[in-house]
This record gives sequence, structure tokens and C-alpha cells, in this order.
Amino acid sequence: MLHLALNLTLFVAALFWLGVACWVYRDARRRSRDLRVIGASTLLGLVPVAGPIGYLLIRPPETRDEAKSRRIEVEALESWLRREPPSCPTCRAGVDASFLVCPVCTTRLKEPCAGCSAPLAPTWLVCPFCTLDVKAPPAYDLDAALTAEAALQSVGPRHNGKRAHRTQEAQAS
Ligand SMILES: [Zn+2]
Ligand SMILES: [Zn+2]
Repeated sequence: MLHLALNLTLFVAALFWLGVACWVYRDARRRSRDLRVIGASTLLGLVPVAGPIGYLLIRPPETRDEAKSRRIEVEALESWLRREPPSCPTCRAGVDASFLVCPVCTTRLKEPCAGCSAPLAPTWLVCPFCTLDVKAPPAYDLDAALTAEAALQSVGPRHNGKRAHRTQEAQAS
């Protein structure tokens, strides 16, 4: 019985040992592309107890995914810092992004939005602030249309009949 318990303990310990070594191998692969680093880490992970602890102390501080996202963040920040300040296309004077005309040479820079008066760049098709279509005709006044329809219906049954007929025609087509 004691023999069996000892065997079982040894088996669990061996399983744990292999599991830890396997984790070290996978962790090393996530942190390095270098086969020598991965191989050395795995060998270190195979040393019972001290190996994995030593690996935790000396492993690369961030995973390759973390390093990549940090690199992308730094690049985005750098390009944001390098960006050109807006300038007038005619006289190259520095202008603010919200200017409608250049204050130096009076060149028209932007058109105000019909909906919210925000300055719109000439290439925009929709206002980013109030979502109004810049190229579209003025919005259809739904309130006025409904009021007109209510007035029409209150006139009499003759109009109602005519309207019903028109609706049938519209549904048929
Ligand atoms: Zn100008
Ligand atoms: Zn707008």
C-alpha cells in the first residue's frame, strides 16, 4: 500500500515536472523567436524546482505580441508628433483647422455645415458632427408633411376615398 502511494506521488511529481517544463517552453516561444533562447529556456525548465524559478527571473520581460503592440503605439505617437500643422493652400500661412477662410489672403478654406455650422473640408460627403449629408438636398420636413396629411383627412370622405384608391395603386405597382 505504501509502495503504491509512493509510486503515485512520484508519478504526480513527474507529471508536474513535465508540465512545468512544457509551460517554460511555450512561454519562451511567446517571448523569443531565437531558437537558442527557446532551447536554453526549455533545458533550464527541465531542472526541477530551481530551473523554472531561475527562468522566471531571467526571461525576456515582454511577449512578442506585447513588444509588437508597443512598437505600433510608439510609431503612431511619432507620426502624430511629426504631422504637419494645417496651412493655407494659397499663401502657406498657418491656419487653424476650424477656420472657414484664410485670415491672411482671404482664401475660402472650408464651408460651414448647413445643419450645425461646423467647418467642413471640401472632400467630405457627410458632416462628422451632425451626420448631415453635405451633398444632399435639405432634409424632408416630416412634421409639416404629417400636418398637411391630417388636414387633408379632416376635409371629408371624398378625399379619403381618393387617398385609399391612390394607396391601392401604389401597392399594386
Ligand atoms: Zn492664405
Ligand atoms: Zn453638421
